[in-house]
Amino acid sequence: MSRPRILVVGGGIIGVSCAYALAKAGAQVHLLEKDKIGSGASGGNAGTVAVGHPPLNRRGRLRQLLVSLLDQGSPLYIPPRWDPSLWGWLRDFVRYCTDEHVEECMKVMAPLGKNALQTFDNIIEEEKIECGYIRSGYYKVCVTEPGLLSARNEAAAIEAYGYHPECISSEELRRREPEFGPELLGGIHYPESRSLDPLKFLEALTERARLRGARISEGVSVLSMSIISGRVVGLRTNEGEIGADVVVLATGPFSAGILNEVGIQLPLQPGKGYHRDYAIGPGGAPPIKIASELSEASVFCTPMGDFVRFAGTMEFSGFNRVMRTPRLNQLTNAARRCFPGLGGDGPKSEWCGLRPMASDGMPIIGSIGDIKGLSVATGHGMLGLTLGPITGQMIAQEILDTEEPKLRKLSPDRFRGAALVNTKKR
Ligand SMILES: Cc1cc2nc3c(=O)[nH]c(=O)nc-3n(C[C@H](O)[C@H](O)[C@H](O)COP(=O)(O)OP(=O)(O)OC[C@H]3O[C@@H](n4cnc5c(N)ncnc54)[C@H](O)[C@@H]3O)c2cc1C
Repeated sequence: MSRPRILVVGGGIIGVSCAYALAKAGAQVHLLEKDKIGSGASGGNAGTVAVGHPPLNRRGRLRQLLVSLLDQGSPLYIPPRWDPSLWGWLRDFVRYCTDEHVEECMKVMAPLGKNALQTFDNIIEEEKIECGYIRSGYYKVCVTEPGLLSARNEAAAIEAYGYHPECISSEELRRREPEFGPELLGGIHYPESRSLDPLKFLEALTERARLRGARISEGVSVLSMSIISGRVVGLRTNEGEIGADVVVLATGPFSAGILNEVGIQLPLQPGKGYHRDYAIGPGGAPPIKIASELSEASVFCTPMGDFVRFAGTMEFSGFNRVMRTPRLNQLTNAARRCFPGLGGDGPKSEWCGLRPMASDGMPIIGSIGDIKGLSVATGHGMLGLTLGPITGQMIAQEILDTEEPKLRKLSPDRFRGAALVNTKKR
């Protein structure tokens, strides 16, 4: 097959990056999005390209999970409810909360992060994308002594993997960013990171993919896959059947449901996060220079042109986009502790989106199960924007090159040993 017909499903950062990389490599590619480009998590995230960080699975997480069952104000929140798939996922998640697993992840994710940065810089430059790209890194800032100690330990671990975090005092932080308030005890500067307006980037990348020959269809919902003799031959959609030689499933947390229909189970859960945007100006957000993460609350504050986005929190409450006011208030409360200049005017927008969370904290990229012509690109959790463009390149390489994929550790096959992938139903 010289020009296979490739269908990419999902118009988030992962699907669009795949379509862009495939079209750039000369493939015949058609992207299907059930709603609008960027209507999932990719349109409203915190906009940081944050590299080199350890996964969410860490020693001590079990205690935090138990506390989060009761506390709507904690960064991590799990409303108690009966959901066997969530409880199974949590069991696996906790199993991966070991120092050994963190080290295994870092060995893969730290070098991948460097490639991701390079890929981002190249695309922004080559495609001349205007999206408020700031290359000056971000600050992780702390308001408690235990928070500062833990942030410094994390920085030391990240430094060991070739990144250059810099520990800074509260005085130095306020010298660099006069909008920081007196409560801050200190922080870390991560100089390698970048920030941008994620929707502007996504829309521009979609346009560039189109210009390179990709077909982009919004309002087309994939209902199921057509598989004959172990090979994917097309997709059933609300607009009828579409034939394909290759399908790339990049439907965020919804990927698990689509795969389940063909007997493949992926350990994925939706992890809801929120944002509140405030216009910069009197009564609104202060004019901050670069992004900051308010460490204890896990809230990002990112300048995006004429507004600042406050984003974060992680809620495991299933497939819904219900906005819980206490969760939104948590963003503003944390922001005011660090930026007392945040005024009393209301936000210009409020939003929530579902991150695709893999139980082992690593993305799931590559051909899946024993179905020929089927690949997935999902499970990027809190790093989907960061790893979007590099994921697109990896998928294009795997589909169009005959060589072995570079990152076996991210392949869906890693769940086979844990009997999480079964193909019995097919
Ligand atoms: C509050 C918050 C802050 C974040 N901050 C950052 C950050 O600073 N940096 C970072 O790197 N990451 C961040 N993330 C994570 C990042 O946003 C996600 O990892 C990323 O957006 C996932 O991209 P995706 O393309 O896999 O999924 P999505 O963006 O959800 O895209 C999936 C798309 O598939 C479509 N779809 C679903 N089912 C079907 C179907 N049957 N047929 C057709 N289309 C379908 C959906 O409509 C959707 O548009 C954040 C997330 C949140 C929620």
